[in-house]
Amino acid sequence: MWNPKCITKDPEEQDYGFTPLTKHILPCCWADKPEFRDHFWGKQLMIDELSMENVGSVEDIILSDEWLDFVDMLNNRPEEAPKTCWKHCGKGDRVHRIKIRER
Ligand code: SF4
Repeated sequence: MWNPKCITKDPEEQDYGFTPLTKHILPCCWADKPEFRDHFWGKQLMIDELSMENVGSVEDIILSDEWLDFVDMLNNRPEEAPKTCWKHCGKGDRVHRIKIRER
């Protein structure tokens, strides 16, 4: 069942990921893996403009167009989500597992 925890979890309990090298916040610690970072959506969330070195606050990042697009994708077009997301937040959904295996 598809359950993207980064948007279904209580925001106060949210555990973001962080890449020390580039100083990017990521939606969860699972996202700090090459499989996610090298995917289209990972690259979107790791553009230079979203590095903590270039923004004033975490809110500037998580309310950016790129993050809002990512959330929209998770909500409305989950078939586009990286394998990492299906692995950790889509367990049991055989149809989508087959689809992501084909990517
Ligand atoms: S694996 Fe993907 S869907 Fe799950 S919490 Fe992390 S970013 Fe969100």
